[in-house]
Amino acid sequence: MAVRITDMCISCDACLDECPTNSIVNDDDNPTGEDIYYVHPETCSECVGDHDTPACQAACPTDGCIVWDLPYDDDHRSHFEGNSLYKLSADAANSQPHRAEVSMEDRKAGNVESIIE
Ligand code: SF4
Ligand code: SF4
Repeated sequence: MAVRITDMCISCDACLDECPTNSIVNDDDNPTGEDIYYVHPETCSECVGDHDTPACQAACPTDGCIVWDLPYDDDHRSHFEGNSLYKLSADAANSQPHRAEVSMEDRKAGNVESIIE
């Protein structure tokens, strides 16, 4: 992944149309079955190549709602597989771009501050 939506989400839908990879779904389409909006890690690009920062976070009115997650790549596959927070599609890509400037400490902590310039 890249980014993750937390239970701070107020279901305002502001992020849905901003995602250049259509990776965000509402609670009805969350593949984990949880009653929360969801970012598909296997398609989220962290907006690399499309925006300077994640467009979802820029559109979100709620502090602490969209936070960093680990890079979606081979080195961190175990974070996403077999984890109830995620349900990868059967044809999931092997990796997605991530922002090297975001520290692993911020990613592991689910921090949001470093998203904001
Ligand atoms: S970081 Fe970008 S690609 Fe990822 S979910 Fe947010 S808007 Fe979509
Ligand atoms: S913009 Fe934020 S609060 Fe609104 S639906 Fe998206 S994640 Fe939830």
